[in-house]
Amino acid sequence: MTNFSAHKAMVFTDLDGSLLDHHSYTFAPALPAITELAKQSIPLVLCSSKTRAEMEQIRTTLGNSDPFIVENGAAIFVPQAWLDGAFSAFVAASEHPTVKRNDIALEDGYLVHASSDRRARWLAVLDVLQAEYGDEFDSFCRMGVEGIVALTGLSDEEAALANQREFSEPVYWHGSDARRDAFVGELESHGATVAQGGRFLGVTGTCDKGKALQWLADATAACLGCEHIDTLAIGDSGNDAPMLEVADTALVIRSPVHEFPPLARGLGVGVMHSDKPGPDGWNDGVMSWLRERSA
Ligand SMILES: [Mg+2]
Repeated sequence: MTNFSAHKAMVFTDLDGSLLDHHSYTFAPALPAITELAKQSIPLVLCSSKTRAEMEQIRTTLGNSDPFIVENGAAIFVPQAWLDGAFSAFVAASEHPTVKRNDIALEDGYLVHASSDRRARWLAVLDVLQAEYGDEFDSFCRMGVEGIVALTGLSDEEAALANQREFSEPVYWHGSDARRDAFVGELESHGATVAQGGRFLGVTGTCDKGKALQWLADATAACLGCEHIDTLAIGDSGNDAPMLEVADTALVIRSPVHEFPPLARGLGVGVMHSDKPGPDGWNDGVMSWLRERSA
């Protein structure tokens, strides 16, 4: 806690293609930088489109006990014990305009700040659209674990974890593009935000990784009584762009399969592009950010 107060910095990272290798899912090349962050008590916040169940498994492997952000920014999970319980105590007594006690639920040992309604709301909207579009889409909920395995190639266990969604629903569209646009329009008129992922449409509330980063950095600054937390965001894809835009420093990781996502902030101060892909680029970028901070 005291160490963290001294450094006042946080790192927010995407997983697939960033901290984890696009093909093998290893993070081994990033271990030197992960170790250095821990040594300097700089929190490492995992921020991914994955579910809580999937992320808890990765946190255990990494030995990470910092907050994490699930389902593309839909919800922030802060362990009750984080900062020796100081964050928890701060929330309980908070009169802060950003950190409203009523917006934070206590669930399974986490303080949970959700920016989206629950999955049930999005499933109900999809039910309404079933009559008109039922033959043209499938959802994780309708496919079940077996269908997810068939469509994605995940193992049974991985598919089960991926299906434990709490705030969003992946939809697989197999109709025409024109009908898809009409379908997306209907979803939006029902209050959903729809993001086109690699394979699925993500149906969720008004949330993204950038808003989640901002909330957690502001809440942590308020908890520590400091003006500002210095943030580094790390990602490789379009869904990372919102956090790469708002962080003090953006580390854009080279992908073996697609171009760098374009950023409105351009190539100016505070944007690094890695030479190497995945965890190798992650390690180099974080090390160079740490060197600059200590210079
Ligand atoms: Mg990624």
